[in-house]
Amino acid sequence: MDKIYDVIIIGSGPAGLSAGLYAARAKMTTLILEKDKTGGQISGTEEVANYPGSIREATGPLLVARMVEQVEAFGAERARADVTAVELEGKLKKIVTSKGDFLAKSVILALGAKPRLLGVPNEKLLTGKGVSYCATCDAEFFTDLEVVVFGGGDTALEEAMFIAKFAKKVIVVHRRDTFRAAKSIIEKAMAHPKLEFIYDSVATQIIGDGMVQGVEIKNIKTDEVKQIMADPNDGLLGVFVFVGYLPETELVKEVVTVDTAGYIITDENMKTKIPGVFAAGDVRAKSLRQVVTAAADGAIAAVQAEKYVDALEE
Ligand code: NAP
Repeated sequence: MDKIYDVIIIGSGPAGLSAGLYAARAKMTTLILEKDKTGGQISGTEEVANYPGSIREATGPLLVARMVEQVEAFGAERARADVTAVELEGKLKKIVTSKGDFLAKSVILALGAKPRLLGVPNEKLLTGKGVSYCATCDAEFFTDLEVVVFGGGDTALEEAMFIAKFAKKVIVVHRRDTFRAAKSIIEKAMAHPKLEFIYDSVATQIIGDGMVQGVEIKNIKTDEVKQIMADPNDGLLGVFVFVGYLPETELVKEVVTVDTAGYIITDENMKTKIPGVFAAGDVRAKSLRQVVTAAADGAIAAVQAEKYVDALEE
């Protein structure tokens, strides 16, 4: 509890690790706190093909391992701890965790976002047993099987087309009769020979005992309920959920400013409204959530934190 870090970074996805790299390299005493797994969402991504320079062996876990090696080489400390409360407003920031309290002069919130759930019976129970939120991680498991995709945005349609590289049929279920996705993506999806569409319908339950055998959906205009069951020869149906993401802002939403969807609002220097508190990566209100933009946010936040700490000391 005695040590006062120059910066504590909460979160160890690409935003947090990039912030850690820039902070430690600038000789700030740096602590990166991570909850359960290092790397955030890309740790479950098989291929990261659009991060500049990541061509061969460009898997999420490998990229994360290299980022970790790099931050540690520059002297950043890392600790696995669940943050339970934060006191950010004073000059000295206190982070309360499952492993005790930590103090810092500045804080970077790189808390990330998580997939929104459908919120229907059996969804959690059957996650990893036919229910998935990550096509790049799991599509291959459904080779030559049938898959149902929920969602109507860019992610749902793009991932449905990706899943169709493996699956024999992909049924996209959307709660309205028009898609939210970009026109170009809709046109491509509509022309796809393996994709079918069900409109105005929501999931009411996932069906399965141990593994997913089907889904029950309800037409919200007619109230008609129907079940989509796995082909009896397959026995297993894939269910992919792409109904948006939720920022991990539970801890801080009362103290920083968040937008209507809950994302933290910063200026272009990643500053929140609290002096010495910055936000970076997917948790921030922005137009593109990718590894490259998370890493960029992290770098900017760390450089700004360094300036802030220097000014405090003067
Ligand atoms: P999104 O745009 O927020 O779309 C979420 C979709 O899920 C919407 O169609 C929404 O329906 C539906 N939905 C939400 N809650 C639901 C529920 N409880 N039950 C059933 N359906 C529900 O999320 P996204 O597709 O993940 O995209 C996120 C951001 O990344 C967007 O800005 C997107 O443009 C961007 N993105 C871009 C690309 C690309 O440019 N290639 C690719 C992927 C993502 P409604 O339409 O009725 O609201």
